[in-house]
Amino acid sequence: MTKFRTLDDLGDLTGKVALVRVDLNLPMQDGAVTDDTRVRASAPTILELAAKGAKVLLLAHFGRPKGERVSTMSVSMTLDAVQAVLGKEVMFVPEVAGPVVEQAVGILRPGDIAMLENTRFWKGEEKNDPELAKAIAANGDIYVNDAFSAAHRAHASTEGLAHLLPAYAGRSMEAELKALEAALGQPVRPVAAVVGGAKVSSKLDVLTHLVTQVDHLIIGGGMANTFLAARGVNVGKSLCEHDLAATAEGILEAADKSGCTVHLPYDVVVAKEFAANPASLRTCNVHEVAEDEMILDVGPQAVEALADVLKTCRTLVWNGPLGAFETQPFDAATVALARSAAALTKEGVLTSVAGGGDTVAALNHAGVADDFTYISTAGGAFLEWMEGKQLPGVVALQTV
Ligand code: ADP
Ligand code: MG
Repeated sequence: MTKFRTLDDLGDLTGKVALVRVDLNLPMQDGAVTDDTRVRASAPTILELAAKGAKVLLLAHFGRPKGERVSTMSVSMTLDAVQAVLGKEVMFVPEVAGPVVEQAVGILRPGDIAMLENTRFWKGEEKNDPELAKAIAANGDIYVNDAFSAAHRAHASTEGLAHLLPAYAGRSMEAELKALEAALGQPVRPVAAVVGGAKVSSKLDVLTHLVTQVDHLIIGGGMANTFLAARGVNVGKSLCEHDLAATAEGILEAADKSGCTVHLPYDVVVAKEFAANPASLRTCNVHEVAEDEMILDVGPQAVEALADVLKTCRTLVWNGPLGAFETQPFDAATVALARSAAALTKEGVLTSVAGGGDTVAALNHAGVADDFTYISTAGGAFLEWMEGKQLPGVVALQTV
């Protein structure tokens, strides 16, 4: 396992300044934060550093201001939510570097917390400009990265700073890295991957990487249609990327060479119109889909067989729903397989890691989010990790 320093390596920090990269890119509506999950994820890190006596300076981006000061994208929009989660007052500082930050540090007492302005107000952030990183580092003694979700970007606040100050993974970053390592780094075998969602084209690199890593690849969702069509199955009006037939064949061949068993659905749930509980709803064998029907979910027999596959596995990594889960009853396969995975995890026989925007929503909908070993809310960073890529923000934290 790659090595990185954690907060365990820090003793008393009284009077030291900790620059802490967190994710405050929170969903908002009418000026109010609608979901504070990301703040709650980093609260243990922030409070632990404060408890050790550090003056904590929070660094984060908010929206896409593209190097300009855009008042509607001030990270101070999240200040109330952050104070509510931390249960502490947080000073807002409208700069990320320079004398204003220096003055703020002078005012803060050990254990106090301040939030610096949106890092993306400065052009040097996304360019990973060493001058900006140096200017930010000048006001800190240590750097802590607790924003795995931003680690796929080599920016000044996510990568550059890690080279200028002693760098540590925060608790949330640490948990994410450990879970990902357990799922694909050095997993207990056999390993299964579930890949679903709308399109093959959005997850080509994920599929290509996974066939070389896992023992079972379970393909569902719209992307299964592309594979079925490539195999000569008539998928009717289903969402399908017919132009990717050769690519899909290539993935299946690569799987074969790597000894990875690919599971495609053999029964499916179809309808003539995409609506909740449509009159035309029926379940059939994949070879019996009519010209005017769409495949909208994996069928119940296939789900039962897939649950049996999971029973033989020790590790599961999941990205993408098996069907159009937002519309009833096309959530059935995703919910059923998620519950099987959750039950096996609870029994202690399966390590289950899942991620992806819609995947997290689907697992919440299935009521199993708490029963998985780990659920990543990191979106883009999670997908890049599933593609086998090195994430610059993670690499920069490594000590060996
Ligand atoms: P994630 O955000 O977890 O990475 P994706 O965005 O790749 O997942 O895919 C989720 C979307 O795929 C959902 O909106 C879902 O409705 C859609 N989807 C899944 N199966 C089908 C299908 N058979 N036909 C059409 N859309 C589907
Ligand atoms: Mg999505």
